[in-house]
Amino acid sequence: MSEVLVVIDHVDGEVKKPTYELLTIARRLGEPSAVFFGAADKADGAVEKVKAYGAEKVYVIDDAELKGYLVAPKAEALQQLVSQLVEKSVAPSAILFSSTFEGKEIAARLAIKIESGLITDAVDVEAGEGGEPVTTQSVFAGSYTVTATVTKGTPIITVKPNSAAPEETAGAGTVEAFTPTISEAARSTQIIASQPRQATGRPELTEAAIVVSGGRGTGGNFEPIEKFADSLGAAVGASRAAVDSGWMPHSYQVGQTGKTVSPQLYVASGISGAIQHRAGMQTSKTIVAVNKDNEAPIFELVDFGVVGDLHSVLPAATEEITKRKA
Ligand code: FAD
Repeated sequence: MSEVLVVIDHVDGEVKKPTYELLTIARRLGEPSAVFFGAADKADGAVEKVKAYGAEKVYVIDDAELKGYLVAPKAEALQQLVSQLVEKSVAPSAILFSSTFEGKEIAARLAIKIESGLITDAVDVEAGEGGEPVTTQSVFAGSYTVTATVTKGTPIITVKPNSAAPEETAGAGTVEAFTPTISEAARSTQIIASQPRQATGRPELTEAAIVVSGGRGTGGNFEPIEKFADSLGAAVGASRAAVDSGWMPHSYQVGQTGKTVSPQLYVASGISGAIQHRAGMQTSKTIVAVNKDNEAPIFELVDFGVVGDLHSVLPAATEEITKRKA
């Protein structure tokens, strides 16, 4: 069975959940091999984690020579890794990335370097009749569902978070160090400063299993949204109207010009359901809306709808959830 490379998404060795989802998908297509970019002393922990989700091999690429630059060195390193595997006649049958900004940019550069087809933002990947990856994408602001395959080279696919339920299974986790040669050209854009974002204690919006979003209907008071989200361990999102009003930072915006989320549960509160908002959330597995207008377009989309004032509905729901958790 041929290898399927999964590029590990992590922060300082802390592996992010979408990586486990990718490993689960990789098992449908072949033998999962993970690729770790990072400091050698952080690799051990990450290796143990991905091994528990079926990684048979882990290629560890020490990023001492790569970090401090933007994405070009990582694309170059992956190109060299793929070439080495091709030379050994063990070419990978697919390469999977998480659909982050960085993941997509590296994937695109790699696709050009190895002359392969690229599919971005898949919401599902299955093996086709010949074992080839067949992806599902939601396109044109979610108005079409597209099934696609790569017809040239090694399929490179970026997959949105929450596209598969991560399944634990023991893999061998054999570590192979790989040392790329990074060109001067790849080092032409350098990061000169970086600041960690202030931690909210909530999950990352695009990875969260539950997202509670607020819109113009909040009137600028996000407290009911935040308290309800915290009772569920959810991330907080916002419509563009709420962001443009300065009630929430831009990084909270869900939609066509904001973030795309696909959680198990999406709660839209005081959001009318404009097409541009739907584009960022309509692949959510279960959608609930709280809106005081029973004709709001969001109700066309929901699994459950509550017609009411969010300022009374959400606190009541929060109280009930807190009571049941006690
Ligand atoms: P509104 O449409 O004003 O809806 C507010 C809703 O709150 C109403 O349905 C109302 O009944 C309800 N409400 C009011 N008070 C209460 C209450 N007390 N309790 C319960 N319900 C209440 N929008 C995005 O969200 N994301 C995007 O990425 C995005 N990109 C865009 C890109 C372009 C090019 C354009 C043109 C627009 C984009 N928009 C985007 C804007 C989009 O068209 C809508 O204007 C926006 O989504 C509306 O936000 P809203 O639903 O919060 O506000």
